[in-house]
Amino acid sequence: MKFIILGCGSSMGVPRPDGFFGNCDPKNKKNYRTRCSALLQTDTENILIDTSPDLRQQLLRHKIKTIDRVYYSHMHADQTHGINDLRSFFINSKKQINVYADNATSKYLRQNFSYCFESYSKEYPATLKLNKIKKKLVSFNKNKKILIKPITVQHGKVKSTCFIINKKIAYITDVSEIYKKDFKYFKNLKYLIIDCLWYKFHPSHFNLEKSLFFIKKFKPKNAILSNLSPVLDYKELKKLLPNNVIPAHDGLTISL
Ligand SMILES: [Zn+2]
Repeated sequence: MKFIILGCGSSMGVPRPDGFFGNCDPKNKKNYRTRCSALLQTDTENILIDTSPDLRQQLLRHKIKTIDRVYYSHMHADQTHGINDLRSFFINSKKQINVYADNATSKYLRQNFSYCFESYSKEYPATLKLNKIKKKLVSFNKNKKILIKPITVQHGKVKSTCFIINKKIAYITDVSEIYKKDFKYFKNLKYLIIDCLWYKFHPSHFNLEKSLFFIKKFKPKNAILSNLSPVLDYKELKKLLPNNVIPAHDGLTISL
């Protein structure tokens, strides 16, 4: 089973569309960041977390031939606007792809991408089926059950869902507050992939200080900082981190 960080960049990516690299060294490949999404690959399923606007490029890079399910963290454009790229997988499988989202995200997706969920004509049938995200999500690897636990966190003015897979790996890319009642789920994991936008305070994201605070609190074996803005150069950031913490880079793959 593999967990692939398909993209680890903040909302505009690095470089931004206008070519702005910020503090990032353009000579370092790890500084080229597409927008956040991830893939959980079992021996039977490809489960996508979010459909970033860079989804096409990300799936091509990893030669992904099927998408079986999609879990959405929240409705922001950098997590949802690649939704149209799921169409080719529907054409191949001839089955609507199940996507899972909380109520606010479902409403946003229905309003803005209604053509994905409703058949307007024979030529353009519905490609996706929207489902409410359940408290416990299940998949299988080598006939063994995989439990995926969604947990709601605060992300500025909206809620965001993060995912904990088999009590081993947590994926939280957009977060400003984790509720105290949920702390217990994040403790002592093998991997904590966590939002770290930049150095300064931000009302909707963790900054470096806050990411490191929660890493210290939750004590994962390894932590990976994601949702990185152009402010954070890979090499410079790495120098500031404890031994068990690294910045993410696109394509970073964890074998589970
Ligand atoms: Zn967001």
